[in-house]
Amino acid sequence: MGHIQKVRAAAVALALAGALAACGDAGDDGDEGSDVEVQENAADEFDDGTRMKELADAGSVTIGVKFDQPGIGFKGATDDAPVGFDPEIGKILAADLGIAPEDITWKETISDNREPFLQNGTVDLVIASYSITDERRQVVGQAGPYYVTGQQLLVGTDSDIDSLDDVKGTEVCSVTGSTSLENIEAEGAKPRGFDTYSECVDQVLNGTVDAMTTDGAILLGYAAENPDQLKVVVEPFSEERYGVGYSIDAPEMCEWITETIEDAQDDGAWATAFEATLGQSGVETPDPPAMDECPAA
Ligand code: GLU
Repeated sequence: MGHIQKVRAAAVALALAGALAACGDAGDDGDEGSDVEVQENAADEFDDGTRMKELADAGSVTIGVKFDQPGIGFKGATDDAPVGFDPEIGKILAADLGIAPEDITWKETISDNREPFLQNGTVDLVIASYSITDERRQVVGQAGPYYVTGQQLLVGTDSDIDSLDDVKGTEVCSVTGSTSLENIEAEGAKPRGFDTYSECVDQVLNGTVDAMTTDGAILLGYAAENPDQLKVVVEPFSEERYGVGYSIDAPEMCEWITETIEDAQDDGAWATAFEATLGQSGVETPDPPAMDECPAA
């Protein structure tokens, strides 16, 4: 990364720090960015026998999100509900089922339990920085992408790591069950896997590992919380397309998730969700990505 890019990354991190502090204040009532319109008589909109109809009839839905990723999915110990872009997408989907934000059950998912939680019914949906991959689509459904980011590195502000070549032979932490851990091993680093990103970032802060790696959108949140100690380096070296996970036994959910997110992209709810969360960093709201077609029934 050149000097200008570094300065830009630092500026983004600083802006995000301020924004996250602001978010923290606004987050006390737990409802920023959640002015979604809850659909009335939603159950009438869905065919009998579909998972959407079941959820709309029940009036509740369980959604797996991250609890330790500022800007994406974060819940402080005393907060009632998580905040971030992923919970906002969850609220948009729930509203289409006639379910208000306060009737959503939020379940913390870590990277490694996303597939099992969908397979064993612990959650109805996973919206947790969950990259779409062919491997994952063998065992769960993934509709999307609703957001695209890319893998980068987080290092101490005094680190010499400045390019992807520099990680060869160094210890780099990430999270078990993530795409990031596999990718960094392929780059010649010694991978160190943890359960959560917050454990991994602690290793960078205390100098046990040389760097942490995962999606840039996640790393910027951590850098923003510790701008004096941490910086994001290198250009994105992967493409991470975030999808909404659903059970492979409910393939009808794909068209519903895709259409509901496309509607939100068209009517501005997607942009409002972005601006209230990741966009608070001063990052310009991107054009929403085109969603994949659903697999043929
Ligand atoms: N998006 C990547 C993944 O799904 C890394 C972030 C994460 O582990 O949540 O594996």
